[in-house]
Amino acid sequence: MVKLWENVGRLHGLNFGGNGLSVSHLFFANDSLVFFDANEKECEGFKTLLDNYAKAYGQMVNFHKSEMCFGKRVPGGVRDRLASIMGVRVVENYGKYLGLPSFVGRTKKEVFAGIRNKVWNKVRGWKASLFSVAGKEVLIKATLQAILTYTMSYFLLPKSMINSLHRMAARFWWGSSEKNNKIHWSKWSYLCKPKEKGGLGFRDLGLFNKALLAKQVWRKIMGYRWRIGNGNSVRVLEDPCLPHPVSFKIFDPPPVPSPLYVTDLKNADGSWDAMFINAVFNREDAELILGIPSTDCDLEDKIMWHYRKNGEYSVSNGYRLASDLLEEESQSDNSRLSGWWNGLWKKKIPPKVKHFVWKICHSWIPTKVSLAHRGMAIDKTCFRCSEGYEEDVFHALWGCRCTYDIWKQSGLWEQMKRQRTSDVIAFLEGLNEVWTFDVFDYFLLLSWHLWSIRNSVLHGGSTLAPRK
Ligand SMILES: [Zn+2]
Repeated sequence: MVKLWENVGRLHGLNFGGNGLSVSHLFFANDSLVFFDANEKECEGFKTLLDNYAKAYGQMVNFHKSEMCFGKRVPGGVRDRLASIMGVRVVENYGKYLGLPSFVGRTKKEVFAGIRNKVWNKVRGWKASLFSVAGKEVLIKATLQAILTYTMSYFLLPKSMINSLHRMAARFWWGSSEKNNKIHWSKWSYLCKPKEKGGLGFRDLGLFNKALLAKQVWRKIMGYRWRIGNGNSVRVLEDPCLPHPVSFKIFDPPPVPSPLYVTDLKNADGSWDAMFINAVFNREDAELILGIPSTDCDLEDKIMWHYRKNGEYSVSNGYRLASDLLEEESQSDNSRLSGWWNGLWKKKIPPKVKHFVWKICHSWIPTKVSLAHRGMAIDKTCFRCSEGYEEDVFHALWGCRCTYDIWKQSGLWEQMKRQRTSDVIAFLEGLNEVWTFDVFDYFLLLSWHLWSIRNSVLHGGSTLAPRK
């Protein structure tokens, strides 16, 4: 009915720009928004429409639950008069539509601040110290990202907000609270890399936001192209019609009358007019056009998403594409190690040990050397063996005299001695090659255990070296 009344000019919806686009209503389940001009005629008109509806369907409108709000330029007196015609309250802001604030515009900052507070309260409620590393990983991935998914499907969050959300997640992850600051061993963006690239696979919320939004408007973004059927709807020069990223357009447009449609490049039987195509386009473009299947001449042209076989856009696919493109830009890819990382995360050892190994590979455990490297004014020498060695990852776990007995008794020492490298990952990879899974896992568990002993010596103040 609203649509009908709008079509005959009895109601006027909300206009967007000068392009003739207007919205008269948004209906979804119990939430309904109707837009019309702020004058008596349209108000009385709409009231009549509601009365007619009520009579026809035997349903009543609850005016106590209804609200009315106005544009900035409507004076107070007019607002009151129109509201009394409708028999509803006047409010400054409609409040929420489908649980989302319906007035974003000017108050965007406040709205986003509200979402930020919601996330903040959630994170603060989690006692970081009570969770294992694996538990925290799940909480961040499942809960935090889930709270935001709905909002991020509809709004592009400002960069500053994305940054502060990342900061909150990072503080939770590294174990900081308001009172004490723990060391953040790496940038959050590094942890957002996939696991096979040395990160933890957290979502970069900025990219995720864009991938979600792209679900609504994927036709407008990079990656869409036409799947050519009869070629009647697709313009050769202007539209993305070639199966060739990134632009999907003719690379070298020839001087032909515009618009030239794809169907104009075909013979009557639907096959390509190869002679014409080869004469007009450059070689690469001609080859791409001729490579498009041309048999089905009754098929409609269809818009599709290039990066999936079925042509449908998916959020996870769009996200991966966006993060791959970012990765290419930064050229920080280290694919040599992807086998190592994949192997590590697939191991059948406790998650805390996996995370420990992941950290030592990055030198992200608080050895004296790492702490000094982070700007702490401390003595770098090992506090346990007092032989004057600097305490780096290597020394702390495998080189210190205090660990020597244990490694000897474990039967692993001979192979460890043979590794000629000071690079932690190369050392681990070398051992992984010579040992069976079980032996290597045992070695990792023992390394983790030695680190725990080292810490209890440090914090407990005990100076006794471990013997067993
Ligand atoms: Zn030592």
